[in-house]
Amino acid sequence: PLGLMQDMPLTVDRFLDHAATWHPRREIVSRDAAGAVSRTDYAGLHRTAKHVSAALASLGIAPGDRVATLGWNGFRHLAAWYGATNMGAVLHTLNPRLFPEQIRYIADHAGDRLLFADPECAALAQRLLREVPSLERIVYLCGADALPEPGALAFDELVAAQPADHPWGGFDERAACGLCYTSGTTGLPKGVLYSHRSNWLHTMMALQHDAMGLSARDTLLLVVPMYHANSWGVVYSAPAVGAKLVLPGQRMDGASLYELIEQEQVTFSAAVPTVWQGLLQHLRGTGRGFTSLERVIIGGAAPPEALIRAFQDDYGVEVVQGWGMTETSPLATLSSPTADVLAQPYDEQVRRKAMQGRPVCGLELRLVDDAGAVLPHDGATAGRLLIRGPTIARAYYGEAEEAVDGEGWFDTGDVAVIDQAGYMRITDRAKDIVKSGGEWISSIEIENLAAAHPSVAIAAVIGVAHPVWGERPLLLVQPAPGATCAKEELLAFLDGKIARWWMPDDVLVVEAIPLGATGKIDKKLLRERLRDYRLE
Ligand code: ADP
Repeated sequence: PLGLMQDMPLTVDRFLDHAATWHPRREIVSRDAAGAVSRTDYAGLHRTAKHVSAALASLGIAPGDRVATLGWNGFRHLAAWYGATNMGAVLHTLNPRLFPEQIRYIADHAGDRLLFADPECAALAQRLLREVPSLERIVYLCGADALPEPGALAFDELVAAQPADHPWGGFDERAACGLCYTSGTTGLPKGVLYSHRSNWLHTMMALQHDAMGLSARDTLLLVVPMYHANSWGVVYSAPAVGAKLVLPGQRMDGASLYELIEQEQVTFSAAVPTVWQGLLQHLRGTGRGFTSLERVIIGGAAPPEALIRAFQDDYGVEVVQGWGMTETSPLATLSSPTADVLAQPYDEQVRRKAMQGRPVCGLELRLVDDAGAVLPHDGATAGRLLIRGPTIARAYYGEAEEAVDGEGWFDTGDVAVIDQAGYMRITDRAKDIVKSGGEWISSIEIENLAAAHPSVAIAAVIGVAHPVWGERPLLLVQPAPGATCAKEELLAFLDGKIARWWMPDDVLVVEAIPLGATGKIDKKLLRERLRDYRLE
């Protein structure tokens, strides 16, 4: 027989209903582009999001329609998000840091009908309105006084005129909820179409203690942008538990983030390594420390061990690494310690933290070789990482063929090893790996070692053509502010830490390592720039 429990559709409007009922006065703090801080709470967010739903309906938006956003982490953006998803529209977060042509391609491919845009993104928004046939109108995320073009629709005035009782939910939990395109680091952007159910399950996974483990006692600084893979699910998990939410706006430099962390007494945050590196430099430069920050998730790219140690040892902040991708909602593995790991010496614990970690309950991982044969979890055998589960993409938006194999496995494009303790370590992206004489060299491993040198701010390794070996590693470094780097010294620093044949053939000191649209090192651009580079 079937179970006799209630069959409640798992739709994300319930998260905000819950927060408004049980945590109505829990604060939401938002900093705008000019640096001004405004405050509301979950009751206020619920009210505004209801108005947004009514406004969207009055503008002809129906369930299933794509509603895009183009902006930074702020209160109006969040209200637009829930206003769209809760009435059944599909919330499509556009990343303003992509190239305009790429954004145009994505908005067109998605068939976006309406665009919520920060006034700072007005030029881009207007271009999209002109060039994307499906796009009918822009609503600027501001009040009438801050409108970038006269006569345009301003969010505040639009929603203020609406009724507050627009119905939410009541649809199939498998209905589309959000749309997010991969940032195209390795090819044309592809759309990942989340369902209400997948976002719900992802929220429950993210709330596992060994995952993000957010609680009602946390104050959370949402550094990871709302357009970066659902802001790693925080937009859902914070209201689900009633955490105080701090939205930092556009300014992500170390000084601006530090100020907010201290002012709002932030306990928890999540972001890519380059953001944490910026914060660390600020702390070191000013000699300051944290009075409230307890835990951070670093993910999206591999954090150097030196970064993990600095936060834990020098500033008393626990670091957990997370791995995932847009296609995995995104949280999939985290490096929280097991009892066995905690029983080991500290160095060994840090070594495990520097791995990408163990899967959350609900997901399956497997390593395979190029022929598809399953590989052992022995800590040494590297293979393609496959993943499967209810929060993993099955197909891309608008593409006829499935993105998974016959058994539902999704190939992540990452190369990894898994050790006996169940810790997965990404050795490289399949496309970034350096193939020297038929053997693989992990660019990530060399980068993380080089980044431990005190004069290095950011390190990047790419493969460059070599007449004998096919490819050899080239190390590029961006010096720490005020520091200088010398090739010989860096090579001596690496000597003995990696196999001889992994040693970079050359070191280039550059003013700035280019970062992509989500703050990760842009290796595609680096490879393009160094296309004509020849090893001596
Ligand atoms: P894009 O693929 O365009 O960069 P994503 O944000 O979806 O956009 O990136 C997912 C990829 O980022 C993963 O496949 C992996 O290569 C990399 N990645 C994410 N988290 C980590 C991590 N903790 N360590 C190493 N690589 C990571």
